[in-house]
Amino acid sequence: KLSKRLEWIAREVPEGSRLADIGSDHALLPSYLAANGVIVSGVAGEVNEGPYEAASKQVRSAGLKHVIDVRLGDGLAVIEPGEVDVITIAGMGGALIVSILEAGKSKLKGVKRLVLQPNVGEPAVREWLLANGWVLIGERILEEDGKIYEILTAVSAAESGLEPEQMYAPLVCADGREVQRELLLLMGPYLTREASDVWRTKWTWELEKMDKICAQLRLSQTEAARAKEAEYRKEMNRIREVL
Ligand code: SAM
Repeated sequence: KLSKRLEWIAREVPEGSRLADIGSDHALLPSYLAANGVIVSGVAGEVNEGPYEAASKQVRSAGLKHVIDVRLGDGLAVIEPGEVDVITIAGMGGALIVSILEAGKSKLKGVKRLVLQPNVGEPAVREWLLANGWVLIGERILEEDGKIYEILTAVSAAESGLEPEQMYAPLVCADGREVQRELLLLMGPYLTREASDVWRTKWTWELEKMDKICAQLRLSQTEAARAKEAEYRKEMNRIREVL
């Protein structure tokens, strides 16, 4: 049985896709999608030997070798240009996801959809998408085992004819206040509009974390620490206004 997180990621993969799951670990996601007939072909990419072996074993024992090819390699190096139309990258930091996409740009031609689930650093992923011709078409947020995860789904601007910036125009709230682009990049343009309970919980936790950092900064009593704390406080106020 798939975790709720992987199940929600799976839902973002359209029927009939040719998928590459990068950093696939045990290849649970492509195995589930292949077993349910969602994907017509899958590549499970892994940079580390251990997970690569685990993925190979999983695909073999599930009898899915005719659908899923397990490959050892760094990021998008495991796929050929034009080979897949959907790429999933899940369960790693946003900075790593960005570096994989950046290093593999030449492999993204013809890819229609990216489904990304950064564990942290979501804003860096949104910024990369925006700067590289990808349109965020949806965001999901969920809680599982005391952790909160975001899933970002994007389509190619060239393929879809959609405008990447469209979701980042200042958002006007019911009471007339505006949520600016920078904050939408931080908190998610769809998630901010939806303002779900899980999203509110995430940002309440983030504010608590930031408050702890401020308390630490105050102990050091240097000019630099004071400036940093003021910066945090400002950011916290902006977040609170949206919540
Ligand atoms: N995607 C699965 C999930 O969401 O449950 C597994 C996540 S696991 C925490 C992250 C995996 O990414 C590890 O198995 C690691 O070996 C792999 N990984 C890290 N950097 C990678 C890279 N540059 N290319 C391919 N795989 C990578």
